[in-house]
Amino acid sequence: MKIISSVSEMQAFAEELRRSGKRIGLVPTMGYLHEGHLSLIRRAREVSDAVIVSIFVNPTQFAPNEDFERYPRDIERDTSLLHSEGVTILFTPSVEEMYPAGFSTYVVPESISSILEGKFRPAHFRGVATIVAKLFLIAHPHAAMFGQKDAQQSIIIKRMVRDLNFDTQIIVAPIMREKDGLAKSSRNIYLSPGERNDAAILFQSLNKAEEMIHKGEASAAVIIKEVEKIIHTKKTAVIDYVAVNDAESLAEIAEIQKGKSILVSLAARFGKTRLIDNIIVQQ
Ligand code: AMP
Repeated sequence: MKIISSVSEMQAFAEELRRSGKRIGLVPTMGYLHEGHLSLIRRAREVSDAVIVSIFVNPTQFAPNEDFERYPRDIERDTSLLHSEGVTILFTPSVEEMYPAGFSTYVVPESISSILEGKFRPAHFRGVATIVAKLFLIAHPHAAMFGQKDAQQSIIIKRMVRDLNFDTQIIVAPIMREKDGLAKSSRNIYLSPGERNDAAILFQSLNKAEEMIHKGEASAAVIIKEVEKIIHTKKTAVIDYVAVNDAESLAEIAEIQKGKSILVSLAARFGKTRLIDNIIVQQ
């Protein structure tokens, strides 16, 4: 596995891979890798000849009051994991390499970035879209893998690819979970043992939403109320939002119609740790 930290070297290597007819798969991450990331890497290996994994904790997607500084990092462990996964290139640029002095050009997704996560993290998707656009221009991948875990992010990236004519195929892979259903996340290590136990309620509440929809409950308000009630059985949980949206357009839904894919998504805080999760239900 080759480790590259310079943008120009990464660009040159990617173009070399393309010239030799190799299909490039990119997996953008912030590191502290877990099974969720590894599932994206395995998917990338299936659809490409050369897999590039980027590890970059992107400062522009964190608000000043968020956890950029304390975000977990373990590059040695990550490097050995990627090595055993047969990754071709690990791209780990520094903040200065990605955001040189005087950096002033951003990709700003509109409308769908101001709802759900965007409401609670106003500049978040500007940071995400900007870094992903930069990574696409640096690694020039044929395909890039994203997790359903960040449902709104995947939709925004797909929209950006369409709107700005990137020639990268976006593949969205399912959510990897712990045994009790908690979605794998680098941030789970922040949880105290009590909070960790309580956090399993999120997936249980989403399962209940799915069951209600399958049984014919059409009112989003009724479903949201029930999900909130279930989460509130855990004392450490503070809900940011529970929402029901069209899984493709993210349009808000009041009455669920047959034949639609429904995204039930939520964010909740356990102590200082903010977790997100979601489920897509085919009605
Ligand atoms: P992150 O390192 O948290 O920025 O995540 C990098 C990529 O991994 C994103 O596309 C995430 O959606 C994806 N990802 C994170 N957690 C999971 C998970 N539990 N299952 C599947 N994909 C995930």
